[in-house]
Amino acid sequence: MPSNPSWTWRKLLQSRDWCRGWFTVNIGNGSSTFLWYDYWLPEGKRFIDMHTLRTLTATGLPWNARVSSIINEGHWNFPMHITGLHASWQSIVFHPKPQLEDHCVWKGNSTGNFSIRSAWDLLRDKRPLNNIHLLLWFKGHIPRQSFILWLAGLGRLRTMDRLHSAEIIRNRTCILCGLHTETHAHLFFECPTSKTVWRTVNARANIYWPCCTWPNILQWGSANYYRKDDITHLIARFLLSATVYLLWFEHNKRIFNNQYLTATNIAEEVFQQVRTQLTTMQFSGAIPTAICNI
Ligand SMILES: [Zn+2]
Repeated sequence: MPSNPSWTWRKLLQSRDWCRGWFTVNIGNGSSTFLWYDYWLPEGKRFIDMHTLRTLTATGLPWNARVSSIINEGHWNFPMHITGLHASWQSIVFHPKPQLEDHCVWKGNSTGNFSIRSAWDLLRDKRPLNNIHLLLWFKGHIPRQSFILWLAGLGRLRTMDRLHSAEIIRNRTCILCGLHTETHAHLFFECPTSKTVWRTVNARANIYWPCCTWPNILQWGSANYYRKDDITHLIARFLLSATVYLLWFEHNKRIFNNQYLTATNIAEEVFQQVRTQLTTMQFSGAIPTAICNI
């Protein structure tokens, strides 16, 4: 890695666009967040990247409007008269918190607080950003789970939007929540059901996986959980592949067998599969108590 300071600054400046995807604004009362220009939408998106300013201002809200301008008495008050914006409004599945200020969250570590070190860890050349093989093929991995994770990362699973475009089905609604259009990003990370599964699994195993986009989660995972002989890194990789696999399995069971598990039951299944897999392996150190004591 070059130690030349100008190279370092150039690298950081080049990474500004990339870094934006790692920040998200948690909306409180919406008064300090720009409605069209700040990254506060799900997946760290912003309106101005998806729509023209002309479409946005056709709502009657100016270019410098704040998010608070679409909050009324603590509830969303979306301007619904512009059809082209409907999908964006519908993607907002969280509620404002009028008693709180807006605050920025860094998704590069478990604390949510930005640090140069965590950003640099994600950027530096010694760990390639798309080193997905570290998350797929590791000691003890389950091939069918790794295969589904690989396909999901490539966006190649036959989610509802793809089945619809292939004219196999007419309905594009997510089978897990029944609320939103089903895409790869929605099914595994944005869906309220999937979010509950991630939260439950993370809490029970005492592991952190950020809920973000496919490219980001794979970048983040390969930069943070890459060590071969570290039990925590191994558990994290098992959890990722088992969670993605069992969410996909649940998706297919609902469509083809009409069988439903709750989010809590899916999380429990993930946890049990990981625990079973770990107990069949040999380790020099102890398995963490969060995994053993159930
Ligand atoms: Zn859903």
